[in-house]
Amino acid sequence: MYFSLSFSIYHLAFNSGVAKYYKNPYNLPLSSEVINFMEKLVKKEVNWGPAIFLITYQLLLVMAMPFYFYYAPPGIGMIAVSIVLLYLTGLSITGGYHRYYSHRTYRTNKFVESALLFFGSMAGQGSALRWSFDHRLHHAHVDTDEDPYSIKKGFWYAHFLWILDKPRDIDPKVVPDLIKNKLVMFQDRYFPYLMVLTNAIVFFIVGWLLNDYVGAFFLAVWIRFFALHHFTWFINSLAHTWGDKPFCQEQSAVNNYLISFLTFGEGYHNYHHTFANDYRNGVRWYHFDPTKWLIWTLNKLGLADGLKRMDPLTIKKRMVMERKNLLIEQLTELWYIKKDELEKKVHEISDRIVTKIAQCNQLKEQYRQIRKEYQQHEMISQLKAEIKSLKKSLRQDWRLWMHLSRHIMRLKPLPI
Ligand SMILES: [Zn+2]
Ligand SMILES: [Zn+2]
Repeated sequence: MYFSLSFSIYHLAFNSGVAKYYKNPYNLPLSSEVINFMEKLVKKEVNWGPAIFLITYQLLLVMAMPFYFYYAPPGIGMIAVSIVLLYLTGLSITGGYHRYYSHRTYRTNKFVESALLFFGSMAGQGSALRWSFDHRLHHAHVDTDEDPYSIKKGFWYAHFLWILDKPRDIDPKVVPDLIKNKLVMFQDRYFPYLMVLTNAIVFFIVGWLLNDYVGAFFLAVWIRFFALHHFTWFINSLAHTWGDKPFCQEQSAVNNYLISFLTFGEGYHNYHHTFANDYRNGVRWYHFDPTKWLIWTLNKLGLADGLKRMDPLTIKKRMVMERKNLLIEQLTELWYIKKDELEKKVHEISDRIVTKIAQCNQLKEQYRQIRKEYQQHEMISQLKAEIKSLKKSLRQDWRLWMHLSRHIMRLKPLPI
């Protein structure tokens, strides 16, 4: 009803010439995406179930929210419970649907899997099978037409409108492991019922415990639902738009610390698209990545094993190679400085780091072999000392590299 009305208004506006504004107001990408969606609506190329559900609940909620906060503001208890639920459902998506089912970055047991699927159903983002199928396609075909939520089709398309497209048939070749998993297939088969059931359980338990059914309905269920939807969608929209690309310049995924706070650690998206098998997205200890902390804790409790992580030297090498290309590119645009010298330095230091990383890896391999096979203590301690001194000189080169890199990136072309 709402859309047929909007569409009639659009046609009226288009025929009367007002469409010039509607079609392209201030050149915002939003309008063309909405128009595309309306065209799909007319051609009946829409995924009706999710489209009606997602649009209706968001519209009703946005209208109802001011009344709720004005007439029945939530107490501290309700806010705390809703935040806990937001985290449980959010981490089930990032730690379960994403890092476990889509990328297989660790192994776990059926008990943890059941918990992930229970809270994953409560998140209302489709089944783990459908989610992982789309996500594996996203990684394999990022930024192309085959990418289900390609940012090249616009910010709002990648954020939300892609869900309204008719879904592709699930190709078993993309998710062979998940098709064999009985728990995943059960959740996929009964997903709509499980979504309603899990949220109904939350509504009754939270409402009864805190004696506040209105708060349980609005905050613990619908507002939590709404917040998590948008936080997760930010990974496909904002984390492909706003940030830097220290690991791979060629694709749209970016690293953005701010987005990590809203997405349970998924904001280090440029790293993730480069090393998708790593169970971490934020690799440094201080990177805000609660999903990585959850998986690490499960491991310490004996509930998860086989945690995959990329070797720090490989990560460093990748950063140097990527930054080297960027610096050479930056230098070609500058004509007023002694480029040759700087270019020489870029090549010299980056080559030195790459060589030292290769040497370090070689020594480490030797060390592993000797420890395993010969137990020669003298040789072991000699190798240890060599690795230590090589790492020290690598750290010095790294500092030089960062200094040079900052210096070059600060240089601006002269205005002509
Ligand atoms: Zn992505
Ligand atoms: Zn991924």
